[in-house]
Amino acid sequence: MSTSSTSSTNRAVFLDRDGTINEEVGYLNDLSRLRLLPKVWEALKLLKDKGFKLIVITNQSGVARGYFPKELVYKANELIQKRLARKGVRLDDFFVCFHLPDEGCNCRKPKPGMIFEAAKKYNIDLSSSYMVGDKLIDIETGKNAGLKTILVLTGYGRGELKYVIPKKKIYPDFVAEDLREAAKIIIKDSGLDTE
Ligand SMILES: [Mg+2]
Ligand SMILES: [Zn+2]
Repeated sequence: MSTSSTSSTNRAVFLDRDGTINEEVGYLNDLSRLRLLPKVWEALKLLKDKGFKLIVITNQSGVARGYFPKELVYKANELIQKRLARKGVRLDDFFVCFHLPDEGCNCRKPKPGMIFEAAKKYNIDLSSSYMVGDKLIDIETGKNAGLKTILVLTGYGRGELKYVIPKKKIYPDFVAEDLREAAKIIIKDSGLDTE
């Protein structure tokens, strides 16, 4: 049985950036600190090959705090694309919230604003899409948008699983060692592993 779709809606994997795609270094305030996590390109390629749109959803309040300019965020995103391009894969888009937590915007995770914006832009079926991230707020964001959720144990993931998740009692649908394992889980859960 084929599960490939002939309709015009798209599946997507929404991805947190820092700690999920690249190394978590606190505020990424210089390009010299940007390092892709191992095998991320492989994970993204697996998902791309199965037809998933790959969309990054990232909070970058360091801009509003005056730690670094917006341009640095864009340059970091471009550098991620450039490094992935060498491996033959690219992310479809980046959505960034530049606001402070108390500004009351609709985009800062765990609010689902960036996901809804992306869903509209790319005609994404949220019920067959996923959110992957290393923090509980990524999981909350996914749930708030009606996505299935995966916590990766890179970045803050291990500590979030041990200390934050039991306290808040908000649980991801899946836990994965890293993005590569998350990709495999997504493909299996979507019934696309036998194609
Ligand atoms: Mg993160
Ligand atoms: Zn915002």
